[in-house]
Amino acid sequence: MSSVRFQAIEKATAKRPVEVESIGKPSDYFGCKVFDKAKMYRYLSSQVYTQMVAVMDGSEPLNPDIVDEVADGMKRWALEHGATHYTHWFSPLTGTTAEKHDGFIELDGKGGVIEQFSGKLLRQQEPDASSFPNGGIRSTFEARGYSAWDPTSPAFIMDDTLCIPTVFIAYTGEALDYRTPLLKSISAVGKAATGVCRLFDKSVHKVDPYLGWEQEYFLIDSELFRTRPDLMLTGRTLMGHESAKSQQLDDHYFGAIPERVSRFMKDLEIEAMKLGIPAKTCHNETAPNQFEIAAIYEKCNLAVDHNMILMSLMKTVAGRHGFSVLLHEKPFKGVNGSGKHCNWSLGTDSGTPLMAPGRTDKDNLRFITFVVNTLAAIYRHNGLLKASVAGASNEHRLGANEAPPAIISSFLGSEVSSVLDHMEENDDFIRLLSKREIKLDIPQIPELLLDNTDRNRTSPFAFTGNRFEFRAVGSEANCATSMIVLNTAMAEQLEMFRGDVEELISKGEEREFAIMKVLRKYIKYCKPVHFDGNGYSDSWRKEAARRGLDCETSAPLIFDNYLTEDSIRMFRSQGVMVENELRARNEIKWNTYTKKIQIEARVLGDLAINHIIPIATKYQSILLDNVIKMETVLGKDEGDRYSKENIDSIRTIAEHISSIRRLTDELIERRKEANGIESEREKAIAYHNTVFPKMEEIRSHIDDIELMVDDDLWVLPKYREMLFI
Ligand code: ADP
Ligand code: MG
Repeated sequence: MSSVRFQAIEKATAKRPVEVESIGKPSDYFGCKVFDKAKMYRYLSSQVYTQMVAVMDGSEPLNPDIVDEVADGMKRWALEHGATHYTHWFSPLTGTTAEKHDGFIELDGKGGVIEQFSGKLLRQQEPDASSFPNGGIRSTFEARGYSAWDPTSPAFIMDDTLCIPTVFIAYTGEALDYRTPLLKSISAVGKAATGVCRLFDKSVHKVDPYLGWEQEYFLIDSELFRTRPDLMLTGRTLMGHESAKSQQLDDHYFGAIPERVSRFMKDLEIEAMKLGIPAKTCHNETAPNQFEIAAIYEKCNLAVDHNMILMSLMKTVAGRHGFSVLLHEKPFKGVNGSGKHCNWSLGTDSGTPLMAPGRTDKDNLRFITFVVNTLAAIYRHNGLLKASVAGASNEHRLGANEAPPAIISSFLGSEVSSVLDHMEENDDFIRLLSKREIKLDIPQIPELLLDNTDRNRTSPFAFTGNRFEFRAVGSEANCATSMIVLNTAMAEQLEMFRGDVEELISKGEEREFAIMKVLRKYIKYCKPVHFDGNGYSDSWRKEAARRGLDCETSAPLIFDNYLTEDSIRMFRSQGVMVENELRARNEIKWNTYTKKIQIEARVLGDLAINHIIPIATKYQSILLDNVIKMETVLGKDEGDRYSKENIDSIRTIAEHISSIRRLTDELIERRKEANGIESEREKAIAYHNTVFPKMEEIRSHIDDIELMVDDDLWVLPKYREMLFI
């Protein structure tokens, strides 16, 4: 038992739960590392504080005159709380976050230093933009990029650094990050939704999108993680035979959380809350060693930031507990993948939720208006919405092992569905309305709040009582990507709706009838995207294709949806992105896709040649040795009789070894061919169509060998060890 694998297993099983210091109740420490309104109140003059609150609530633009004072207050607070550095914190198109740490110190000219931080440094900086992907935007112009402060998301302290949320844009104005288009999409949907709300209620002045995420992840012991080069370098296992026991018994979901894990979760919750993240639920997920953490929903921009902070926090905290966090969408083949359910809704400044039924008929008509428009928006842009969650890693998850298929449809539940059916089918509805024979009442709706039980877990976009839950988003993703599409599509749709209603009104139609008529038209229009049945079934795939929904499963082709005429028009008309930006982003998407598979292919090739073939050969030699010795001792006839199975195994192993060698050569060849392709799009397609399938072939040989050879010789931790320790 000397192999690295067994040593790792021994170390992993010997680990004890790590103590987590109790630091009082959450209300004592929530947000203690955030320069939030409470801190601003203490560190800023009352006049500047009031202005900052208005800026943060989005009711006023930032007045440049107050920035120096804000910077000074921020610096004093940060220094008092142990920060020594500051950074502009932004999300470049690599998908992670970037930061460049600068010390607060400046030379004071008298041989010493002083801590300094000015409004100028708070507002704008010029990080070395050339090291971030830009999809070609800057190559022909300036290589410069700027980061600029986003005062709507509060600064916070991570380790010893004051992090200032910023946008990241090119010198020429194009966005090089996720935050810029996200902020624009938030403003677009807010404006359009306010317009529609005002058809019902003139007192509405502002609407915001909200997001509540549920983050799934796997935890594995860090010793085991370190002995799997594939996990370390690619985030997923490129080989590994299924464990005899996996998730068949469904005994992990909501099961007892192991002590080591529950301490980690407690620690994570505390650290998250210190950073102002309202972490709320932690529980086991369906797969072994799979867990979830969710936060209470917040305004979209803040929630996106909080999720990004959480993802990096998870890694640090896990390290303290001897775990590694796997955020990859599909770390283990044949086992459920991880997603990030994005619960999305709209609400007014006075706190009225727009996607929940209300008490009056008018409230309910407004509620139906927002539901129907959401459906119409995701129907019109169903391919684009799918593109917003597509990528090399989520490609493994969608449509496999209990994950929504790569087809966007929406589940509404029996209550709302019956209201829509009623509105659509019943010609009488409108006629009676117009004759004033029935009141505008939709009696089924108020009960929805009571009967919210029939939740369809197979739908990628489900209505769940007061929000839509977008479940196709990947666990590793920056939720901004899907929020940008959702907000923008909804903005466009709501504008269209208001236009249609106002046109009818201008022709003399009464407001509520006009609304009903337009809704009726939309209900018919978006019917194909409404599906309450089993989204995992094969029959749905066929049905969806018949309905004309986008059923493409190859990520490089799904990305094309960003560049259709409809998409370009939508982003442009809502002021979110222009064609140039969309094209640049797609270049990056294709390029990232290629690189991810390229790395995987290299790692797989190395492991096959350096780990697997030597082990298989060693075991083969043991068998050969045995066959020869049997013959020597027992004589040829008897020896042969007893060695028959061993000889079969020797042959099988020889076959596998030679296949792996041949396929690995082919894999290299295909990679070379693909690398020679100029166009990023075509290259990504080649990686998808030719490189990736080779990897699957190699893997199947390796997984067969794993079952055959002596367990003592196998050096990579097996699924049963990674998933059950
Ligand atoms: P489940 O796992 O059953 O879907 P959870 O309670 O784990 O439910 O998560 C629900 C998520 O939805 C939480 O993040 C919650 O804050 C969020 N949520 C609840 N209401 C809304 C809403 N109106 N808008 C957006 N998100 C919401
Ligand atoms: Mg959920």
